[in-house]
Amino acid sequence: MAGPRHGGRRLKVRRKSRIRPPSYPQSCCCAGPSAGGPPITYVPFRNGILLAVAAAWAEARGADEVVTGFNVIDSPDYPDTRPDFVRAMARAVNAGTRAAFGGPRFRITAPFIRLKKSDIVRAGLTLGADYSHSVSCYDGAERPCGRCSSCRLRARAFKEAGVPDPLVVRLGKEQHP
Ligand SMILES: [Zn+2]
Repeated sequence: MAGPRHGGRRLKVRRKSRIRPPSYPQSCCCAGPSAGGPPITYVPFRNGILLAVAAAWAEARGADEVVTGFNVIDSPDYPDTRPDFVRAMARAVNAGTRAAFGGPRFRITAPFIRLKKSDIVRAGLTLGADYSHSVSCYDGAERPCGRCSSCRLRARAFKEAGVPDPLVVRLGKEQHP
């Protein structure tokens, strides 16, 4: 099919796209890793989208740093939590904002990227983070399912940190006051 002219050449446009929408698991709860790629729980370019939104928001408000909570140690199979990805996004943000015309350079920092999850738990406890209202389950439930990778990592992190999960403690108190 003949399409619009572009740069003096006529573009060919296919009637049918070969691009298919990605398939998503109906429930991630019992999902394991997929063969030869990121885990089935990977959401296509999620962190890239969130970083782009954060960078736009920061630029509009005159901020020059975006801080992320990315962590690669316990989840190395996700492509968008790795240091290479953070550096690439910083280059893209600096090329696509006022920084490209001499404005302040953006930094994207990921202070937890190489910490074990148990060390992140300890850091949060030191800073007074209220984990009793944090939710990790891929199934979207407040109570950890105990089966999905996120719940298993969370449980292991609190166990290694030597403290009960404040979320489980709170839910237990609410259920049996
Ligand atoms: Zn879960």
